[in-house]
Amino acid sequence: MTLRAEISPIESATACAALAPGQLSFVDYARADAWLNYLSQVDRAAPFLGSLGRWVETLKRPKRAVVVDVPIQRDDGTIAHFEGYRVHHNTSRGPAKGGVRFHQDATLSEVMALAGWMTIKNAVVGLPFGGGKGAVRVDPAKLSRVELERLTRRYTIEIANVIGVDKDIPAPDVNTNAQVMAWMMDAYALTKGQVVSGVVTGKPIELGGSVGRKDATGDGVFIAARELTGRLGQDIRNQRVAIQGFGNVGSAAARSFARAGALVVAVQDVDGALVCEDGLDVEALSSHKLRSGSVLESGLGIEIEREEFWLVDTDILVPAALEGQITAAVARATNAKIVVEGANGPTTPEADSILADRGITVIPDVLANAGGVIVSYFEWVQDHSSYFWREAEVRDKLGQMLTDACDSVWRAHLEYQVSLRDAAYILGCRRVLEAREQRGLYL
Ligand code: NAD
Repeated sequence: MTLRAEISPIESATACAALAPGQLSFVDYARADAWLNYLSQVDRAAPFLGSLGRWVETLKRPKRAVVVDVPIQRDDGTIAHFEGYRVHHNTSRGPAKGGVRFHQDATLSEVMALAGWMTIKNAVVGLPFGGGKGAVRVDPAKLSRVELERLTRRYTIEIANVIGVDKDIPAPDVNTNAQVMAWMMDAYALTKGQVVSGVVTGKPIELGGSVGRKDATGDGVFIAARELTGRLGQDIRNQRVAIQGFGNVGSAAARSFARAGALVVAVQDVDGALVCEDGLDVEALSSHKLRSGSVLESGLGIEIEREEFWLVDTDILVPAALEGQITAAVARATNAKIVVEGANGPTTPEADSILADRGITVIPDVLANAGGVIVSYFEWVQDHSSYFWREAEVRDKLGQMLTDACDSVWRAHLEYQVSLRDAAYILGCRRVLEAREQRGLYL
């Protein structure tokens, strides 16, 4: 089987598209890939939960899921309808927390999985949050800026009764950014008749955002890679790095790796892929991507076919685009020694076991991409007190929190003789279920 035949950019999302919201139960939605992937990850941790195991079903269903119609008037006067979602997977440890994505293939089941991963991630790094996620099933590239603002505001109003500063705090994700957060914050504030800065994070600095938030996820990807390659006895300098996705996460990670002396030898985005044996000039590539929206036609490196990206000679592979990108075929073909999951859910369960059999270390998403939610937490704390920190303080605290989490996961990996992903799930599941048990049920 050729690599080209087996790699489909968003296989799982295509499978989800047939599901009709409102007609199926959570269990029916569980047929979809991303959610099944999440469930299998929880199942692998279950034998290590001891007496907390009796609560594990809590993690296998979302607490609350909202599906909303988001109608907007297009610039040509027609009315268009989009489907929106907000899922609270678990709130045992605190308010739901997780991003909002705008993507044409988003589905409720995908958002359920993304919310589940947020529950585990927030617990792994010790944040006082549960897990949430939201999406609108839309291709934002097909909307004008004014239409995008209308869509964002309408979606916010539709979910306004389930979000809130101590209830559920959205943030940016795929195809959303600080401007989208500003519109969300403003729309929500209008429903309350007062400014409510802390209802979203990842806002512009002028509106109560935190310095360091924009690059925090990518910076965190680098920190996790540096910490764990160090424990594997390797130096991050001169490591060859290939990054899929050159958006918020991928481009910031690329800059961090390059600053530390690693060579970013290949990148891929939705338009194509680029390779440079001696290391790409990632600062120049970031500026080009900002101007043109693509990594192509930059004059930097050599353009290659998208599927050739996976075959590039590299030490570290960073998937930072969408779920399900590291398929079994990719796992068999890659010559990377370490996979650092910048994206959420980028590795299929089959690919995960192939990578393990091949001795390739995977630094799991719930640890590797936690830098964003850590600095979102800092932003939320700063908004609560209306007292803002300097960048050095944010960076210092981010480094400390993520390094501590890497250390805990590494120790669990050694103690239980399991993969880093299983170790992270054992820690995360335990923390959530301990909180669940302590709170008890309403009898
Ligand atoms: P983004 O929209 O800023 O960038 C996405 C990038 O992926 C773009 O470069 C795009 O071209 C590329 N891409 C999209 N589809 C692709 C495809 N089929 N093949 C190759 N490339 C493709 O999004 P982001 O915020 O950087 O998020 C990327 C991933 O990181 C997602 O999985 C997201 O959930 C996860 N994540 C984001 C944050 C955050 O703070 N933004 C935090 C944690 C995890």
